[in-house]
Amino acid sequence: MSSMNFRSELTGSFSQPCAENPTVAMVEAAYRHHGLDWHYINAEVSPADLGDAVRGARAMGWKGFNCSIPHKVAVIEHLDGLGESAAIIGAVNCAVRRDGQFIGENTDGKGFVESLREVVDPSGKHLVMIGAGGAARAIGVEVSLAGADRVTVVNRSAARGEEVAALLDAQTPADAELVLLDGEYAVPEDADIVVNATSIGLFPDVDARVPVDPGSLRAGVVVADVIPNPPRTRFIEEAEARGCKVLDGLGMLVNQGVIGIKYWTGLDVDPSVMRAKLEEIFGG
Ligand code: NDP
Repeated sequence: MSSMNFRSELTGSFSQPCAENPTVAMVEAAYRHHGLDWHYINAEVSPADLGDAVRGARAMGWKGFNCSIPHKVAVIEHLDGLGESAAIIGAVNCAVRRDGQFIGENTDGKGFVESLREVVDPSGKHLVMIGAGGAARAIGVEVSLAGADRVTVVNRSAARGEEVAALLDAQTPADAELVLLDGEYAVPEDADIVVNATSIGLFPDVDARVPVDPGSLRAGVVVADVIPNPPRTRFIEEAEARGCKVLDGLGMLVNQGVIGIKYWTGLDVDPSVMRAKLEEIFGG
């Protein structure tokens, strides 16, 4: 479990090594900007203590919390139910108290779709997704539930790739297939949206190349990267140079925050304040 969101009457104090947590800084920036009497704090929780931590959040009247790896699957048994996409994805990164019950949601893919909608409606589109890890699974499910027609999952390992392609094909309205990564991948001409959903390019490995042939990126195609740090990845820069419409990983992160805050407080907050805070931390 990482970050929690609360309104409680018990006052506590704890000390932990405290490097600046970008998500905490982003959510707190929104709360302060809107003058909201809410707080978002970060606590390290060991796998053995996860159940107690969720019971504690319940007891203290917390409105919800985010959880990160390694808790995204394990937390499910401590919750009372799951939202539609979290049930398909099989992982939760956001718990929300609804009518006294903690319901697990997954905002990773929802944040991505929200960013995507700023440039294209996913309905009827062909998504090419490089990667088949947790982020890819969430993105694939949400883009498919948002109406995408086809998803091509491109992954290095067959096992993970097959699992995600089969899940999308069976449990969402989209058709999905796996292409195994073998050298440089040439994006098919009918692709509308291409997303790097691998960890390639994440700081400090900023020079690592996403194995996509840049020559296959047509002008006008939407190219997105999940990497938030740095926001301008090599992949994004190459795509932009080819005339693609680009979306960086900050938008996905900001929109996850916006969605989480809406779930917890019922309020719509200004994404630009949150993005500005992340740009301060990661560089714009
Ligand atoms: P996982 O470890 O679950 O998955 C990593 C994926 O990247 C796998 O498909 C893996 O392939 C692939 N991969 C990694 N290295 C290589 C490589 N050298 N060549 C080919 N494929 C590679 O990670 P997550 O899905 O949880 O996270 C992925 C990234 O998404 C992270 O960098 C994270 O920061 C980012 N993220 C961003 C969010 C945002 O809001 N912007 C939200 C969530 C995540 P294989 O299966 O073959 O190992």
